[in-house]
Amino acid sequence: MNYLDLDITQVRQLIKDKKVSSVQLVKECLNRIEQTKDLNALNEVYADIALKRAKEIDNKIALGEDVGVLGGVPIVIKDNINMVDTKTTCSSKFLQNYVSPYNATVVQKLLDAGAVIIAKANMDEFAMGSSNENSAFGPVKNPIDNTCVPGGSSGGSACTVAAKQCFGALGTDTGGSIREPASFCGVVGLKPTYGRVSRFGVVAFASSLDQVGPLTRTVEDSALMLSVLSGQDKHDMTASTKPVDDYLKDIDKGVKGLKIGIPKQFFNNKLDPQVMQSLTNAIQTYKQLGAEIVDVDLKSVDTALSVYYIISSAEAASNLARFDGVKYGVRAKNYEDLVDLYYKSRTQGFGKEVKRRIMLGNYVLSSGYFDAYYNKAKKVQQLIKSEFINAFKQCDVILAPTTATVAFKLGEKSHDPVSMYLTDIFTVPVNIAGIPSISIPCGKNDKGMPIGMQLMAKHFNEATIFRVANAFEKTTKEGK
Ligand code: GLN
Repeated sequence: MNYLDLDITQVRQLIKDKKVSSVQLVKECLNRIEQTKDLNALNEVYADIALKRAKEIDNKIALGEDVGVLGGVPIVIKDNINMVDTKTTCSSKFLQNYVSPYNATVVQKLLDAGAVIIAKANMDEFAMGSSNENSAFGPVKNPIDNTCVPGGSSGGSACTVAAKQCFGALGTDTGGSIREPASFCGVVGLKPTYGRVSRFGVVAFASSLDQVGPLTRTVEDSALMLSVLSGQDKHDMTASTKPVDDYLKDIDKGVKGLKIGIPKQFFNNKLDPQVMQSLTNAIQTYKQLGAEIVDVDLKSVDTALSVYYIISSAEAASNLARFDGVKYGVRAKNYEDLVDLYYKSRTQGFGKEVKRRIMLGNYVLSSGYFDAYYNKAKKVQQLIKSEFINAFKQCDVILAPTTATVAFKLGEKSHDPVSMYLTDIFTVPVNIAGIPSISIPCGKNDKGMPIGMQLMAKHFNEATIFRVANAFEKTTKEGK
């Protein structure tokens, strides 16, 4: 048996039943990482730490101790998440030597559940990008076609799961950074409700939008990982105190009687015909499974992209002010005074896209422009949010494409920021509204490139998303 072909749900059982050891799984992942290192999915691999921990887990199992729901399973985390005594670089030259003094809450939760963290994944610098080409450590390649991008900014996390270097990964999603790469690499990616998962110890990009979520091979694995990650946190005031649902309880209940909303604004002429065909087939499958298909109207959703790039850049400009070469970041060597030190450190440390966002953010926040841009964007955000809330009065989930096209070629959009931003057109409305959304594979184009479908639900309704997504995944897998 090739263990790397299995999912988390399967391997965790095999580990528990002592049919395979955690040490063996870690070794297999390390071998696979070595064989596929050209993908450049990982910034750092923790072979020694991971093997030592796997051994500890195996020993506990031998003694009959409980090792947690992810006991012994190799997992990768995005390189903007702190793990004590390891580097958190955000794929930036600026933070290339930064060592985390503590664990992020999500890391602690993974460890408490028995996971073995084996590596940190490459990403777009400070999570800004849609192709993973903005990394100071070089781009990640799409594992299905090496001439294409894996998506971004969690491109390394999606790639490492798709390339079977690990069984699951953590990403972050501010405007689509989990769902877009999941779609491009053919894996499952979930952006939870804003506030469902703690961000303590996760480097902030746009604090009113950022969420951590899992990238996995199956919907059930996604539900399992979210159960581990969710919940309130005394270190993060924005983490909701709402009790966490049992995401696995109703996952096999099917879609009979559920209403699936189709927003016409997402099915426009920008959609690649093969993507359109896949989505149409998916809607048909849901009909056959007994769901009711209804039309929903999200009139203002077209404005979400502009709203997103104003709000996210404004918050990024503020959040990134802390990287000054004094408290954080690599300090420039020669400088005249304090201002010059800031200036030179930031000029040398940040990449082009990050600088663009800081300039954009400071512009929209500057006096004279604040009302015209930032304030207006916050008002339109409320409008978009209320349209989603209204739409969910007519349906249980909303179905839409994740991206308008399949993965594009490396270098194809990297010199045209606006066309890169347009990649996020279908993913950003979800962050603007704060709702949860999953991207699952729903087909392939004629070149074998994966196509992704989003399923969105009301705030804190992840359980419904998993149920609807699982119904599709199970039928299409059986049908293969
Ligand atoms: N592609 C979007 C951006 O560049 C989203 C990034 C993200 O979700 N972190 O801002």
